[in-house]
Amino acid sequence: MVKPDGVRANHTDAIKEQIQAASFAIISQKWVHLNESAAIAFYAEHSNRAFFPSLIDFMTSGPVLAMVLEKPNAVAEWRSLIGPTDSQEARLDAPDSIRARYGRDKQNNCVHGSDSQEAAAREISFFFDEYHQS
Ligand code: ATP
Repeated sequence: MVKPDGVRANHTDAIKEQIQAASFAIISQKWVHLNESAAIAFYAEHSNRAFFPSLIDFMTSGPVLAMVLEKPNAVAEWRSLIGPTDSQEARLDAPDSIRARYGRDKQNNCVHGSDSQEAAAREISFFFDEYHQS
């Protein structure tokens, strides 16, 4: 997913070029503007964290681009391409990563990646089967 900060700053095309250069196939894509209850559901695992209200504000602040990416070992390969959660850390440890190039900090980190195959299945279903914008 390209998060609202990445969409707002017009990084979507550059990110898609980096995705294709890394030999991922983009199987599906969908523009979505998450409402509050959808963002809460998507990040439910973080509901007890201090940053949760701010995360929900951020994730509902504008459209996101959800994508289904395909590649052998895609979950790990994508997590590697996006880099660490904190974009400032990414600039030190993984300077060519997407978060290093286009993210700003821990929250405004431009992209999301599923952290397991189970999470990928759940999140693909969330965006492509369940979520219908009103
Ligand atoms: P994502 O799940 O978005 O791919 P991640 O797995 O690298 O990111 P998580 O720990 O799952 O990171 O956190 C989910 C999201 O919550 C982060 O991507 C970021 O936008 C936000 N976040 C995480 N930690 C913080 C923090 N300390 N302060 C503010 N926002 C944070």
